[in-house]
Amino acid sequence: MRVRIHRGTREIGGTCVELEHDGARLLLDLGLPLDGAPDDTSHHLAINGLTGGGDLLALVLSHGHRDHVGLSHLAGPDLPVAMGAATLRILWAAAAFVPDSYVPTNTVTFTDGQALRFGPFTVTPILVDHSAYDAYALLVEAGQQRLLYSGDLRAHGRKGALFERLVRDPPRGIDTLLLEGSSLGRLDDDRTFPTEADIEDRFVGLFADTEGMALVTASAQNIDRVVSLYRACKRAGRTLVLDLYAAEVLAATGNPRIPQSDWPGVSVFVPRHQRVRIKRTGRFDLIERHRANRIYGEQLAALAPRAALLFRHSLLPDLDRADCLSGARAIWSQWAGYLGQPRGQALVTDLATRAIPLSHAHTSGHASIPDLKRLAAAIAPRQLVPVHTFEPERFPALFGSCVTIREDGQWWETAA
Ligand SMILES: [Zn+2]
Ligand SMILES: [Zn+2]
Repeated sequence: MRVRIHRGTREIGGTCVELEHDGARLLLDLGLPLDGAPDDTSHHLAINGLTGGGDLLALVLSHGHRDHVGLSHLAGPDLPVAMGAATLRILWAAAAFVPDSYVPTNTVTFTDGQALRFGPFTVTPILVDHSAYDAYALLVEAGQQRLLYSGDLRAHGRKGALFERLVRDPPRGIDTLLLEGSSLGRLDDDRTFPTEADIEDRFVGLFADTEGMALVTASAQNIDRVVSLYRACKRAGRTLVLDLYAAEVLAATGNPRIPQSDWPGVSVFVPRHQRVRIKRTGRFDLIERHRANRIYGEQLAALAPRAALLFRHSLLPDLDRADCLSGARAIWSQWAGYLGQPRGQALVTDLATRAIPLSHAHTSGHASIPDLKRLAAAIAPRQLVPVHTFEPERFPALFGSCVTIREDGQWWETAA
C-alpha cells in the first residue's frame, strides 16, 4: 500500500491522507486548514478523481471537525463519502442553522467495528474518545498491509474507556501507524490534562461563586462538555439552558444517555436570530420538536440565579433585551487561543462593557504525551509516522526508532 499525506506532516489542520493499492485509491479526511475558508482555492489540494467515478473509490471521514471534513464539498456527487452515522446526523442538524453549510449527499455511514469494503481496501472504524462525538481511528487493510490512522483521540474524556480498550486490545500487526501529535509543543512531556470530570467539578465551583446567570461558552458539538455541564447543573441546582441549535445537535447524537431538550433540568430558549431563520427556511418542525421545556425571554431574568446558559456571542443581544445579566459570569470552555483572535477579542470587550467577569474551564480534545506513548507502545507499529502535529521532529525522542517523518505530498510505502 502506498501513502501520501497531503497535509498534516507539519501542521494541525487540513488533514488529508491518500492511499493507493493495486490501481485503486482511497482518501482519509479532507479537512480545512485551521485559519482557512472553504472557498479559498489556495487551500484546495491537487487530488485526481475527487469528482468520483474513477479509481478514487471513497472519502472516509474520521470525525466531524472542520479540520477533517471542511473541504469535503470538493468531493463530487459520484464519490462516496463515508462517516459515522451520528456524525452525518450532526452535520445535518448543524446545517439548518449555519448559512452556506455543506453536507455530502452520496454517503455511506458506519458504526464502531463495522468493516467497509472499497475495492481492495477494507476499512474498520474504531470508536475513540475525542472532543468531537462519534470520532474514529481507522484501520485500513489492503494487500498484506495494515495501516492504522489514529484520527484525533484522547484518554481523559468521558469515553476514556475507549482509549483503554485500544491500549489493552490494539489491532495487531500494524505496518504503519499515522499518529496524531496535537499535544506536542502544547504540553510538557510528562504532564497530563484535566479530565472531563475535573471540568465538571470546576463548573460546580464557579457556579457557587456566581450570583446570576452562568454563561458557559462551549461548542454544542463538544458533547462530552455538554454532558459535564449538565451534570454540574444538576449538582448545583441550576437549569441548563440551550438554544435551538444545541438542542438539535444533542438530539442528532441519537444517544438516549445524552441530555436532551425535554429532560428535567433542561430548558430551550430560541433567540431572535434563530426565530428569523426558522421563518425564512420554514423549519417550524425544529421549534415543535423542542417545545416541551421551551422558555421565553421574559422568563430569563427570574431564572438567571438558577441557570447556566450554553452561551455564544450571538445570544448577547437577546440577553440584553431580557435584562438578565445582573450578577452573571462568563465561563470560557474552549481553547483559550480563540480569545486572542478578533472574534474572541470582540466578545471579551462586550463582556467587559457589561462588567461580566470571565473565568476558564477547559481541557484538551487530544491525548497527553504519556497517553500517546502508551498507545504507540501497545500498537508497536513497524513504522510510526507523525500527523496532525506542529512538532514532528520531537516524535523520535518520544516514540523511538520506528518513527519516520514524512513530508506533505510525498508518496511512500507502508512496508518501510
Ligand atoms: Zn478533532
Ligand atoms: Zn483535528
